[in-house]
Amino acid sequence: MDRVYRISYQGAVQHAVDRGGALHAIGGDIFATPSLSTAGAAIPGGLNAPGLRVLAPVTPSKIVCVGLNYKDHAAETGMTLPSEPLLFLKPPTAVIGPGDPIRLPPGVGRVDHEAELALVIGRRAHRVPRARAWDSVFGLTCLNDVTAREMQSKESQFTRCKGFDTFSPVGPCIVTGLDGEPRDVEAWVNGQRRQASNTRHLIFPIDYLIEYISFVMTLEPGDIISTGTPEGIGPLQSGDTVTVKVEGVGELTNPVEAEP
Ligand code: MG
Repeated sequence: MDRVYRISYQGAVQHAVDRGGALHAIGGDIFATPSLSTAGAAIPGGLNAPGLRVLAPVTPSKIVCVGLNYKDHAAETGMTLPSEPLLFLKPPTAVIGPGDPIRLPPGVGRVDHEAELALVIGRRAHRVPRARAWDSVFGLTCLNDVTAREMQSKESQFTRCKGFDTFSPVGPCIVTGLDGEPRDVEAWVNGQRRQASNTRHLIFPIDYLIEYISFVMTLEPGDIISTGTPEGIGPLQSGDTVTVKVEGVGELTNPVEAEP
């Protein structure tokens, strides 16, 4: 198991792996197999090194999201359980990293947090059968599927309401070597827990989603699949701090501010 970060440090953007508490820069492409094993010398101070900034762990070509994938969230929205996954895309321009502000656009009304377990694709995947789906996964991360809720209720497509810049916080790192075992998924706002569920309540599990999505579109290394949010969605206000926690994966915290 490795924790893989993407960092800005001493003028360079690169990946780094946390191994035994020491942070080692990775010179090459993290999706090329040897890179993780050829990490360089430890960075003094690790994540707290002066001037070091943690970025979103990948720059995806696309983010494929699943709507209504928890039984409890389907119930709170009054929707019937889907017979097939409901897919939508978030644009790569929505991605921000840990600590970056979620910016509330003017005039859109209520904007909600959605705590989600996400996975990062590690090798190109086209029509991957469910039994081999985990071979395509590089690792797991946290994602906040920020949503302009009132706009969503007015439209049948989710492109606008989920596509604003800053509406896709990802990170803080990718954890490799995990599988589909049940994990708690939570959202915290200003230190109060707002969402609490477990991936055992997923309607469509990760291996099924990879088969289903890769039947339609080729998944590239670095692409993200976000597996849906449990019940407890709620509004964000300027000045809030929101954290997505996924058990065994990490905590993704972002401040919220009104767009000037
Ligand atoms: Mg969602």
